[in-house]
Amino acid sequence: MTTKQFDVVVIGAGQAGLSVGYYLKRAGLDFIMLDNQETSGGAWLHTWPSLRLFSPAPMSSLPGRLMPKATEGEYPHRSEVLSYLADYEQHYQLPIYRPHQVQTVVRDNDALRVSDGKYSWLALPVPGVMKKFPISKDKTHISVNNAIQHTIKAQKHTKESEFL
Ligand SMILES: Cc1cc2nc3c(=O)[nH]c(=O)nc-3n(C[C@H](O)[C@H](O)[C@H](O)COP(=O)(O)OP(=O)(O)OC[C@H]3O[C@@H](n4cnc5c(N)ncnc54)[C@H](O)[C@@H]3O)c2cc1C
Repeated sequence: MTTKQFDVVVIGAGQAGLSVGYYLKRAGLDFIMLDNQETSGGAWLHTWPSLRLFSPAPMSSLPGRLMPKATEGEYPHRSEVLSYLADYEQHYQLPIYRPHQVQTVVRDNDALRVSDGKYSWLALPVPGVMKKFPISKDKTHISVNNAIQHTIKAQKHTKESEFL
């Protein structure tokens, strides 16, 4: 099985994955994003056609790029959310590969080996990052909670001007 090495492997390219990808790109890390769907949109691909966001567009924006206002009323339609997410990943040229259904994440020495059964990707320990998000000794995953807290903190520091 061919293995490629990266600093970080992100599993899933829904809203959470895209936000993480934005910050990884800003940090200049070498990363890949794997998503098991044919196209962009995450869970929004599977919602009923009439669904609208319950939060207004500005409140639903991902880091760095404002969601355009809804064309009708205050709450964007499902199709507008899908367009926004597709535009977001293209705008930031996020390295998303589809479709890849990740099946396993296992420890491989100090790194993590991610596999879809056909290909595998090695997430190498990043100095500094691994200190913040240590791999627990008895488990094979990075502390997701710590990573989320870090992302939320970083988002709070995102200036309004970055949304241009
Ligand atoms: C009915 C509904 C209404 C909502 N309304 C709002 C709202 O108004 N405002 C708001 O801010 N939020 C809203 N949300 C919340 C939010 O927009 C969605 O839940 C959002 O999709 C969450 O993003 P996510 O990245 O966490 O997950 P997802 O969108 O589910 O993305 C995860 C991605 O990872 C992929 N994946 C999963 N497992 C694997 C694997 N093993 N290998 C590879 N890929 C994998 C999935 O297929 C998917 O593409 C709503 C949610 C729902 C369900």
